[in-house]
Amino acid sequence: MEKYMFRSLSGNKGLIKQAIPLGENQRGDPFSWHFTKTGRYTVKSGYHIARLDVNQPFMARGSGPDITLLASVWRVRCPPKIQHFMLQVLSDCISISANLGRRGIACDLGCVRCGTEEETINHATFVCPPARQVWALAHVPVGPLSFPTDSVYANVDHFLGQQNPGAHVVAFPWLMWYIWKSRNARVFEDIVEKPEDIVRVAEGEATGWQQAQVEDDVDISHPIPVGLSGLAGTTSLPPVFSGYRCFIDGSWKAGDQFAGAGWCCTSLQVVSPLMGARNFLRSLSPLHAEAEAFLWAMRCMICHDFRDVDFYTNCSDLVKMVSSPSDWPAFTTYLEDIKIDREEFSSFSLSLISRNANVSANSLARQARTSPHHVLFINNFSSHWLV
Ligand SMILES: [Zn+2]
Repeated sequence: MEKYMFRSLSGNKGLIKQAIPLGENQRGDPFSWHFTKTGRYTVKSGYHIARLDVNQPFMARGSGPDITLLASVWRVRCPPKIQHFMLQVLSDCISISANLGRRGIACDLGCVRCGTEEETINHATFVCPPARQVWALAHVPVGPLSFPTDSVYANVDHFLGQQNPGAHVVAFPWLMWYIWKSRNARVFEDIVEKPEDIVRVAEGEATGWQQAQVEDDVDISHPIPVGLSGLAGTTSLPPVFSGYRCFIDGSWKAGDQFAGAGWCCTSLQVVSPLMGARNFLRSLSPLHAEAEAFLWAMRCMICHDFRDVDFYTNCSDLVKMVSSPSDWPAFTTYLEDIKIDREEFSSFSLSLISRNANVSANSLARQARTSPHHVLFINNFSSHWLV
């Protein structure tokens, strides 16, 4: 555990321990910007942070989006355009009357639909009576103390995470999206859409999208290698290959003590695959867990003297950061270790596969994460681990 340093961040519920990777190699302290996913500064994020209460940037409810809340949005299974919309909602970057008014743009600050004095994004998406009706029709229990609240962060968080009360509402990203579109139709085109129609369209779109994902996954009988050159590759994996294929995954959940890592390594020469699973103190985000899992899997391959290895992940950001390390300064520690460890391989690649093609590594990582104790197994599993 000497590679971990602990630090505390203050939060609503006291101190939160986070594991910060220090890496294996001596180097100077680099700068990175922790208000974007990559760690690169952008003017847009800088402007946004400058407008927040910078003394309390990590408060989960009420005062600003918590870093794990933002990270969770990227894990929501919905189209990227809706993920992006949800991030804009949480970042208060939507062109709504209250925001336009703050920027000095002369406009009516009130809500066109209900006449309330100031229309915020939380009001339009959750609180305004037509929006409330949509949530109620979508079987989200609505009550003065539970949902919706005055905090847009709490309202989005209501649906994120398996333990949260709205977790069963898988269509919630589409509901948010179509509530917003219907608000725009009312404001800009004076079209009034019925709440029941919004629910029907949102749930229909959600179901259609989810079915398309399953069909896509089934279509990919072989994973798609993209190498380290980008995500454009479309060639199927050849059934005959030399060396080793190592499928990797990380598992991370806000509030858990541990994050998990799993890998499953096959070759044409062996009958049963070699597998590894371990947990480690939960780091900052799901993407940190993916990078830690990859690094650990690389080192396990080196220890087994497997030097001709194609790695596979279903995390596209991991492929992107390994392809273009300079674009991801928040992950410099990992990426430098990965760069050094790569030298140990005679042949090395990291490719993207579908989640359905990565079930073994995913299961190992998840079970390691949920273990109440430290676990470190390599090819030593009781059968229930392999379900
Ligand atoms: Zn309203």
